[in-house]
Amino acid sequence: MLTGENNLHLLAQPKNIVITTHHKPDGDALGSSLGLYHWLKANGHQVEVILSSDFPDFLDWMPGREDVIIFPNETERAEQLLAQADIIFCLDYSALSRTNILEPILRTAPGQKWMIDHHLDPEDFATLRYWDANAAATAQLVYSFITDICRDATAITAEVATCLYAGIMTDTGSFRFRSTTAAVHLIISKLIEAGARNWEIHEQIYNSSTENRLKFLGYCLLNCLEVIPAYNTAVFSVTKEDLEKFQVTTGDTEGLVNYALSVKGIRLAALFIDRTELIKLSLRSTGEIPCNEICKKHFNGGGHLNASGGSSTESLSETVNKFKSILPTYKEILTT
Ligand code: 5GP
Ligand code: MN
Repeated sequence: MLTGENNLHLLAQPKNIVITTHHKPDGDALGSSLGLYHWLKANGHQVEVILSSDFPDFLDWMPGREDVIIFPNETERAEQLLAQADIIFCLDYSALSRTNILEPILRTAPGQKWMIDHHLDPEDFATLRYWDANAAATAQLVYSFITDICRDATAITAEVATCLYAGIMTDTGSFRFRSTTAAVHLIISKLIEAGARNWEIHEQIYNSSTENRLKFLGYCLLNCLEVIPAYNTAVFSVTKEDLEKFQVTTGDTEGLVNYALSVKGIRLAALFIDRTELIKLSLRSTGEIPCNEICKKHFNGGGHLNASGGSSTESLSETVNKFKSILPTYKEILTT
């Protein structure tokens, strides 16, 4: 769904543009941001990508990553760019709170905000909104924004294609989630045609673990996983000490929750991590089990039906116990 399309004409002239995405960007957040970045730059705009935090090592190969501005490292310059921007793209988030420290600046920035996103319940902050909760990834929407909305199909360079491919690949779990429609595969074929080297992208993202990261995974599988057969649920609880022991860095816990969901019969998987300032949780489910409802009602978060996140300021054990106490509410959908 597109609203505010009467503003699209702004792109006809060179503009000052800033691209933002959610805190701790994942493959879709960074891939959609850098894909759009390359396209806008090729069209003569002055463009910067500003992130509220660093990004995982497994994304540290994406074309354009060295141009990204990490807000805490270059605060003054980033504030200036945001204040001067004609257009601020808001990619892969539907609530400004997901940009963490950027939120207050985005709320008061004078530039138009253009949202491209696939999360539920979009907040009403955007002048232009290109939004579809059924899209597999924001990178998919960036592709159709360029080719369908802006009718610039010839502009998908190898750089744009590589970034968008990575975004769609990571948000679909390598093309296996329910969101992976025939239309998604068609876009993927266009991206490969345009120069995305699919095998290299898979290598870069999935075969780039450090030894520590792999040992941390083994440790979590052995020591941190609890299966609750009565509710077809499995839970990882990771303490601050576990993180310190394996020197866990941004992105090292990405994908861990999926191992809990891969246990036969498990329909709901949870990962709780003690990040010191708060407990961060990730939920994954199969079928109609509403992760987003659980996160929204009880853990100050949200997301998609089958993949959501949230946080808690209680202790790790209190948060896990709270989660367990919610399970009876969903007994029927979890067990039948
Ligand atoms: P992850 O578990 O990989 O951190 O996040 C999965 C999905 O849950 C994200 O794509 C995002 O939609 C959502 N999500 C994660 N954390 C939060 C949060 O703190 N608040 C909200 N509203 N959504 C979140
Ligand atoms: Mn996404």
